[in-house]
Amino acid sequence: MQTEAGELRTKLRAMIDERLPADFVGSFTGDSKDLATAEDFCRQLAEDKLLCMAWPEAYGGQDAGPWLQTIVREEMWAHFEPRGAQYMGVNWVGPVIMRHGTEEQKSEHLPRISAGEVIWCQGFSEPEAGSDLSGLRTTATPDGDGYRINGQKVWTSYASIAGWCFLLARTERNPADLRSGITVFLVKTDSPGFSVRPLDSLVGHMHLNEVFFSDVYVPASQVLGEVGQGWRIVMEVLAYERLGIARYSKCDRLLAEVRTHLGEEWNDVPSGLRERWVRALVRTRQSRLLAYRVVAAQAAGHVDPADVAAYRIAVTVLDQEVSEILTEIVGPKALSPGLTESKLVRAVEDHWRYALAGTVSSGTIEMQRRALARAILAPA
Ligand SMILES: Cc1cc2nc3c(=O)[nH]c(=O)nc-3n(C[C@H](O)[C@H](O)[C@H](O)COP(=O)(O)OP(=O)(O)OC[C@H]3O[C@@H](n4cnc5c(N)ncnc54)[C@H](O)[C@@H]3O)c2cc1C
Repeated sequence: MQTEAGELRTKLRAMIDERLPADFVGSFTGDSKDLATAEDFCRQLAEDKLLCMAWPEAYGGQDAGPWLQTIVREEMWAHFEPRGAQYMGVNWVGPVIMRHGTEEQKSEHLPRISAGEVIWCQGFSEPEAGSDLSGLRTTATPDGDGYRINGQKVWTSYASIAGWCFLLARTERNPADLRSGITVFLVKTDSPGFSVRPLDSLVGHMHLNEVFFSDVYVPASQVLGEVGQGWRIVMEVLAYERLGIARYSKCDRLLAEVRTHLGEEWNDVPSGLRERWVRALVRTRQSRLLAYRVVAAQAAGHVDPADVAAYRIAVTVLDQEVSEILTEIVGPKALSPGLTESKLVRAVEDHWRYALAGTVSSGTIEMQRRALARAILAPA
């Protein structure tokens, strides 16, 4: 396994060196060439069956299991996530379709995800339903052989470039328990009545959007799992999603790069700041171990949501800590002639903006702490 993992890292790094421009710091910079680079890179990963390597061969994978997929995730994050928005399909859309989809849904959606041909967005949050997701109000009303969807979603990442939306809608209006009566729909974004309005935000170009549903028709064949039983799927989605972003790997790389970049000037960095740099490096390793604890559980077939919450808390706090340290080290130099546009400065700035959102996206840190406390104080 160790040899295999080492070989995989070497292969991925060679691909990255060969295919990514030296100044690449992510796909959502506002420069369309960066998005095109990510699309191209994904196609190459897909061709080599590396995009979804943990998946069964029948769906375009290599049956490689979660550990090797973790290596792919780490290398991608360490190199500014050249899979762009594809990580959603890979990390959680595909796995939950595999678990809950009909044969028809599996053969329609999985090969397209593993081929890197389709971007998915997640239609969960609404203006009145974020942390309290079960309060969602978007409705799905039976109509002939399908449903009519009406309502609004918000903060929907990548909706403006997505081909499909993984949507939560209410099929039962006033249930006694709000978590029942929610259904998952797989919705084509070019369906009549589906519209997107981009939202400007710190996390960058094309990231966040509002999505409106006005009598959007979805055939019953695109209901995922049982009607009214979507909440269970939501819990699985969130667990896969929270594990799927290897922020620690990017932190590790940036901490190392800033040290190398400064060379002799490193000695001019105040000792208190250098001490924080060392502590942050230790915490990247702690976060990695917490991630591995979840991956080990995943490999054994059962993921504990409390472990996922512990990892998510650690890694998002780490991300913010590292962003502050890097900004303090690089910040004063960033205005020097020649450095403003340097890759390191752009990467640090991007990391700082993205880290700010980390304790909100995919469930706020307060909700993660609540989930963890509940699991410890009142285990099921
Ligand atoms: C970068 C980014 C990307 C996102 N992408 C998507 C996406 O693709 N799809 C999608 O559906 N959503 C997405 N979201 C939305 C995200 O899931 C929500 O922002 C998040 O769930 C919080 O919901 P809210 O914004 O409505 O805040 P609220 O739920 O209104 O929370 C406001 C504050 O109150 C606190 N709070 C609320 N309830 C409690 C409680 N019971 N106990 C303690 N504190 C509480 C929260 O922690 C928070 O600090 C994204 C958000 C960001 C920042």
